[in-house]
Amino acid sequence: MSNASENGRSSARHSTTGPRTDLLSSNPTDRVEAASIFQGDVDTDNTVVVCGAGGFIGGHLVADLLRQGFSEVRAVDIKPPNQWFQKFPQADNRSLDLREKENCYRALENADHVYNLAADMGGMGFIENNKALCMLSVTINTHLLMAARDNDVDRYFYSSSACVYNQELQDTADVEPLSEEDAYPALAEDGYGWEKLFSERMCRHFREDFDVTTRVARYHNVYGPFGTYDGGREKAPAALTRKAIEAKLSGSGDIVIWGNGTQTRSFMYVDDCVKGTQKIMHSDITEPINLGSDDLVTINQLVDVIEEAVEVDLDREYDLTKPQGVDGRNSDNTKILEELGWEPPTALRDGMEVTAKWIEQQMRTHREEETTSRFAVPH
Ligand code: NAD
Repeated sequence: MSNASENGRSSARHSTTGPRTDLLSSNPTDRVEAASIFQGDVDTDNTVVVCGAGGFIGGHLVADLLRQGFSEVRAVDIKPPNQWFQKFPQADNRSLDLREKENCYRALENADHVYNLAADMGGMGFIENNKALCMLSVTINTHLLMAARDNDVDRYFYSSSACVYNQELQDTADVEPLSEEDAYPALAEDGYGWEKLFSERMCRHFREDFDVTTRVARYHNVYGPFGTYDGGREKAPAALTRKAIEAKLSGSGDIVIWGNGTQTRSFMYVDDCVKGTQKIMHSDITEPINLGSDDLVTINQLVDVIEEAVEVDLDREYDLTKPQGVDGRNSDNTKILEELGWEPPTALRDGMEVTAKWIEQQMRTHREEETTSRFAVPH
């Protein structure tokens, strides 16, 4: 087990030297050894099911599993495969609505490991206005747990969220980092957070009463390439990056920020999330545990980082009518350091540089496609 300084935490976090080419991990043919992620032995012949594989984190997880040499990876999502952020022909790709019990039983047939990352969710703008939809994701985890129990699944992972934490502990920008026990007494984010807290609890009781080996991580804001950056479900890093690129491409230089910019958050790069997820899955940690960066920044500081990554000077306007969430939220990483000797190491600047490049490339491609179709001569 390594400790914080051995894993390069301090140097990685404050590194600002040029773009890192090792951060974008989308090529499953670049194999890495499974042992570098897990404690103990993991059999790469196991059948691993990733639920929500067409989404942001799920797509990166499938890529990572394939890269490590897992030969039986089943990727499941409600979306048709042509709408997945990442799709790999080496995986068994299935389009299934996992709210339906029989689909969960089909998805988990002969499964050894199950990662449940499927949820109807989005950024603040989405979860504040779609509480019922967010809560309906409870049917996904419930039916998957039942299928895991009845299919004798070896290990089951549930992706919870920092939105489970008591909101009264997050009413100042200068917030104390949230440690795992701060979820109770419960006053979670309305809708989305309560669904996560209930589903965490269900994982616990399926472990205690039905002997299903469940593991739960509470993710704190995840960002990176191959995710949503427009359309209403995007989260702050992607939304602000899109706006900064729009300001650059249009030449306006203007950006509208939701809230007054002093709210604080920490942001975890997706590669760290995928790595931490697998470490927790294969650990002995039975209680929900934080998986997030503890590098607290204001939204204004996030915009500073984005300005640099996008190479644009922005004129900032603040829209106080828009949802902005709690005033401050940070991850207390004491427990993950104790248990795994590891915490997410990627510096915000490094991760945002890769993310901004990807979003800009996507936006430029879409613009070119639009221009081409507008001026296309009909035959
Ligand atoms: P995402 O929206 O990109 O991915 C979720 C995927 O689940 C989507 O592709 C969606 O189509 C799929 N899905 C939704 N309903 C489904 C259904 N009925 N059947 C099958 N698939 C369905 O989100 P993400 O950012 O990749 O998040 C993954 C998980 O991590 C979610 O559970 C989310 O709540 C949790 N989480 C994410 C963050 C973050 O910052 N991204 C933070 C905290 C927790």
